[in-house]
Amino acid sequence: MQGGPARAVKSAAIPGIKHIVAVASGKGGVGKSTTAVNLAVSLTKLGRKVGLLDADIYGPSVPKMLGISGKPSMNPEGKITPLRNHGVYGMSIGLLISNPENSAIVWRGPMVMSALQQLLYQVDWGEKDFLIVDMPPGTGDAQLTLTQRVPLSGAVIVSTPQDIALMDARRGVNMFQKVHVPILGLVENMSFFQCPNCQHRSHIFGTDGVQEAAKEIGVDVIGKVPIEISIRKCSDEGTPVTASEPDSSEASEYLRIAKAVD
Ligand code: ADP
Repeated sequence: MQGGPARAVKSAAIPGIKHIVAVASGKGGVGKSTTAVNLAVSLTKLGRKVGLLDADIYGPSVPKMLGISGKPSMNPEGKITPLRNHGVYGMSIGLLISNPENSAIVWRGPMVMSALQQLLYQVDWGEKDFLIVDMPPGTGDAQLTLTQRVPLSGAVIVSTPQDIALMDARRGVNMFQKVHVPILGLVENMSFFQCPNCQHRSHIFGTDGVQEAAKEIGVDVIGKVPIEISIRKCSDEGTPVTASEPDSSEASEYLRIAKAVD
């Protein structure tokens, strides 16, 4: 690690963008990207202008989840034009590298940071209230560099209620706190499964884990999202549940998260 947080140089703010908010998780597969995409769509429902930057080089899933594809074009000033869908302006590292699955995983902190710098400053984001950043999972070198350098207004941490995920989530919270980025709240994803037939709720990954961890570290739980087939299916189809089923209970939970962030 070169230099500690005290020596980190923050990048300049992005002209036109009011707030940059990171969506992060201590480990992969807990629903960070799903939360980022649905949060972005929900913020548009609150009347906000929203960009979504997929910085998850280890598994860029925003293009698929937001339903954007193809090589982005350049504007006359040579800046990359984000692709719009469901009211959100998205850009992903996955749209800029030819073979993300093979090339991305070997990237180290400095390479990640220079790619991200390009996504932040060489994209024509325009006037936005929020730029949501889907962070790479984990708390390693690359992630710490991002939290140190990107001018973040705050961070949302996503975790499942399992002990093992929560341990990593705590590490994520610490990472942001170390560099003085406010934690806007924890999202408990895959909180419970509600049987569509008998409505019984099963707490597959445990009960109240995130709530207890949040209390212990002094942050709020801003949403509890169930494991729901429609959430997975809509994401796979590129039409987030917040866009395709705006009246569902899942969409209203994401709206609650958006209100906490707004
Ligand atoms: P991460 O970004 O943390 O790696 P993803 O958002 O890519 O996680 O989610 C991993 C998988 O789990 C995806 O297939 C996604 O559709 C699914 N998933 C995430 N959250 C939920 C949920 N609440 N209910 C059902 N499936 C979910």
